[in-house]
Amino acid sequence: MKHFKRTLLALALLSFVVQACGDSGGEKKDTTMSGFSPPSDTPVFDGSRTFAYLEQQVAFGPRVPNSPAHERCLEYFVRFFDSLGLPAELQRFELPGYKDERLALTNVIVHINPSISRRILLAAHWDSRPWADMEKDPDRALRPIPGANDGASGVAVLMHLAELMKATPPSIGVDLVLFDGEDYGREGDESMFLLGAKYYSASRGTATSEILFGVLLDLVGDRDAEFPREELSQHYAGDVQTMIWDEAARLGLDRFSARQHSAILDDHVPLNKVAGIKTVDIIDAALVGGDPSSARRQYWHTLGDTPEVCAPETLHDVGRLLVSIIYGFHSI
Ligand SMILES: [Zn+2]
Repeated sequence: MKHFKRTLLALALLSFVVQACGDSGGEKKDTTMSGFSPPSDTPVFDGSRTFAYLEQQVAFGPRVPNSPAHERCLEYFVRFFDSLGLPAELQRFELPGYKDERLALTNVIVHINPSISRRILLAAHWDSRPWADMEKDPDRALRPIPGANDGASGVAVLMHLAELMKATPPSIGVDLVLFDGEDYGREGDESMFLLGAKYYSASRGTATSEILFGVLLDLVGDRDAEFPREELSQHYAGDVQTMIWDEAARLGLDRFSARQHSAILDDHVPLNKVAGIKTVDIIDAALVGGDPSSARRQYWHTLGDTPEVCAPETLHDVGRLLVSIIYGFHSI
């Protein structure tokens, strides 16, 4: 993902957001969240187990499209979901890369309770950025990033949620989607980011009424993570964002702050704009571009995005919240 502020497109979209939000501020009330009530009894989310899934992904090496590590990690996901008895649907597609090669990309989709029409979508990206372009050293900037926080963290949370939902099926349906090709683009080239989310969203068409809403996880592993209210999420899915942040407050999860943050280009944009699925991005937004308040948190899109900057406690907080959301909804 990247800052929207840096691009002309971003500026255009931001002005649209400002105009469109007007006085409503994305806080419109509707009935989407009417099925939610905080659950009293939920499965226990294990942050340490989730951290191991983060480490296992990183151990393959950077999951850059067309690389052996990318292929091996895809096989690992297939084995993982097969072993749970939740076989993954592989949405394969090809696009031209920067060197005129064909990029072989795959979205991994897992349907929990496939027969239940009332569903939510949980997503994260599994690919790693091919260039550490925030490195100051030009040689280092040509190398791919480890992607522990930027990629593996969100996927790890979804993997453990799949285990919990298999053992204790929720009342609603859940689609888990691991997007490929999120971080492929060169700085400033909007067209080459979010490749998997764009493909998934276009292939759904507009017949998405069965999906109540979506939640995107990105950069959810840093040990000092803070999750503010991101602007585009608020604009497109303000009621969903309010529900999630209210539940975080009820659970005492202080990382979810009331602070507002400017628009970030991420996989929730095509989900909202193309698929029409109201989707909220849970993202440690200050990391994008390097957190100006912390020297330690300057590793975004560098070779320093390793498991050492992440912590099981953060993964736990995100997973704990999603458990509450998932088990707080009931099918009608
Ligand atoms: Zn990234």
